[in-house]
Amino acid sequence: MTSSPAIVILGPSALATARRMQTLYPQAVIHGLRGRVEADQAYEDFGDTLRSLYRSGTPIIALCAAGIVIRSLAPLLASKGAEPPVLAVAEDGSAVVPLLGGLGGVNRMAREIATALDTRAAITTSGELRFGTCLLDPPSGYALADLEQGKRFVSDLLGGESLRIDGTAPWLNDASLPLAEDAGRTVRITTEQRPTQPDELLIHPRTLLVLVDKADDLAAAIRQAFEQSRLAPKSLAALLAPQALISDKRLAQVASELAVPLRFVRADDGLPPRVHRSENLQVLQADSPEAAQSMGRPRGRLSVIGLGPGAAEHMTPAVRRALDEAEDLLGYETYVKMAEPLRPEQVRHCSDNREELQRARHAFELAASGRRVVVISSGDPGVFAMAAAVLEALEEAGAPIDWNSVELEILPGVSAALATAAKVGAPLGHDFCLISLSDNLKPWAVIENRLDHAGAADLAMAFYNPISKARPWQLGRALEIVRQHRTPDTVVVLGRDIGRPAEALRVLDLGELTPDMVDMRTLVIIGSSQTRRFPRGDGGEWVYTPRSYPQS
Ligand code: SAH
Repeated sequence: MTSSPAIVILGPSALATARRMQTLYPQAVIHGLRGRVEADQAYEDFGDTLRSLYRSGTPIIALCAAGIVIRSLAPLLASKGAEPPVLAVAEDGSAVVPLLGGLGGVNRMAREIATALDTRAAITTSGELRFGTCLLDPPSGYALADLEQGKRFVSDLLGGESLRIDGTAPWLNDASLPLAEDAGRTVRITTEQRPTQPDELLIHPRTLLVLVDKADDLAAAIRQAFEQSRLAPKSLAALLAPQALISDKRLAQVASELAVPLRFVRADDGLPPRVHRSENLQVLQADSPEAAQSMGRPRGRLSVIGLGPGAAEHMTPAVRRALDEAEDLLGYETYVKMAEPLRPEQVRHCSDNREELQRARHAFELAASGRRVVVISSGDPGVFAMAAAVLEALEEAGAPIDWNSVELEILPGVSAALATAAKVGAPLGHDFCLISLSDNLKPWAVIENRLDHAGAADLAMAFYNPISKARPWQLGRALEIVRQHRTPDTVVVLGRDIGRPAEALRVLDLGELTPDMVDMRTLVIIGSSQTRRFPRGDGGEWVYTPRSYPQS
C-alpha cells in the first residue's frame, strides 16, 4: 500500500485548492506553515518538512513554485534511491507539474489531480507522451523484472523499434504502442524466471501463491522452490497457510520479509492449480493477479487504541497508523469523530450505550472474520477504558475459539491525568494514584477506603469520572475524606477538556474547591502535602510536586 500524500501549503491563498485535492485523496494531510494558515497539521520550516516527508517515502503535493520544491529537495537527489512522487501545483489550481517519482506513479497522480482541478498535467516523460502509458510502471498486480534494462527498452521504442505483446497485459489495451506482428521487441508477461534479454521487456504478473503446510525453515524452502521450478519470485502474490497456523509468528515474519500478504485458507476453499510441489509447500497459479489477491482471508486484527486527550499531535504515530489501516472502528461517537480524518469506506460502529462488554464482543466478531478493527478510547485505553473490557470478553468462559486467533494489540495513549499535569507543570512529579470516582462498577465503600488510604499515604491523586448527573453527591463526600488528611491550602488542579478546543485549566486551594466547579469532562488533581505553586511569566501559575521530601 502506498502511503497517502501530504499536501504542503505556505499560506491561506492555497487552502481552497488544497481542500479540493483532499476530496480526491481523502486521507491526505494538509500541512500549513504555523502562524500563516490553519491546516490539518502545522509545520515550522518548509524545507525541513519537505525533506522529512521525502525521506519517509510520502508522496508530496506542494502548492507553490516548482523552484522552491526543487531547491528544498536538491540535497537529497544525488543518491538515487526509491523516489516518492513529488508534484508542484499552482496555488490557484491552474497548473500541475510532476517533478519526481516517475516510477512511483507521479504522472498518474498528476493526471488525476489535473482532472479533479479541471486543468492539464505538464507531462514531460517522452515514453509516456508517445505511448500514453509508462511501460516501466505497470499497475499493481504486475512487477517489472529489471528497471535498467527496461529504460534501454523504452529508449529503443522511442528510437523507432516496434513491439509485440506476449501474455496478458490488460492495461496496455488503451495505450498507443507501436505494435507489429513481426516486431523486433517483445513485452513478455510471464511468471517464468528468465535472464534479461535486450529485445524483451519482462513483466511478472503476481499470480503465484505459495501454500505451506508448516512454518519451519520457510524462507529457504520458498527460495529453493522458486529456483527449482524456474518461477520468478516477483510473481509471488501471497503466502497461504492453513487456518491452524494462524497464530504462528514465523509465518508473519516470512511474509513481511517477502513483502507479500499472508492469508489463511480452510480445507473447503477451492484452490487454483498447482505448478510445483516440494516437501512442505506447493506453488499454485491463479488466473489473474486479482484472483490471486482474493484467495483466503487475512488474519484479523483488533487494536485497542487510546487517542490521547484530544489534539492530533498528542496521538502516537502507532495509533494513527492503526486508525489509517482500520476497516472497522468502534467507540462512542465523540471519540470516533476525534479519530478523523477517516476514509468513507471505513465502517464506523458508533454507540452511545454503556455496554462496553457488548462492544468488545462485537469487535472480536468482526476481527475473527479477518477484518482490521480498532476500538477507540480517549486518553489511554488501559485507564478506565476499553482495554480491560476487551480482555474480559476474551477471557470469559465461552469466548469462541477463533477469537484467540485474532491478533490483539493494545496501543497506549496520553491519559487525561498526564495531559492535565503537563499543562500545569508536574503535579504528579512524585508518587501518585489514579482513582475513578464512579461507583457504577465498584461499591462506593471501596472508593472511600482507597481515598482514605491515599490521603494517609500522602499520595497526590488524580480523580477520573469525578461527578455526573447520576452521581451528584460522591465528589463532595470524597473531598470530606481527603480533607481529613490535607490542609486547606493543598494545591488542586482542575483540567477540563484538555487538548480540545474548549480547554480550561484552573489552579486553586483545596479549601476553595466545591463540586459545582467540576463536571464529567474534568480531571481533578489533588496535590500531596509537598505540592507547590508559583507564578509563571505569562500571569499563570506553575504547579509541581518535588521529587524528594525535605530531610528531617
Ligand atoms: N481513558 C481515559 C479516561 C476515561 S474515564 C484516559 O486515559 O484519559 C473519563 C474521565 O477522564 C472523564 O470523566 C474525565 O475525568 C477524564 N478525562 C478524559 N478526557 C479528558 C480531557 N481531555 N480533559 C480532562 N479530563 C478528561
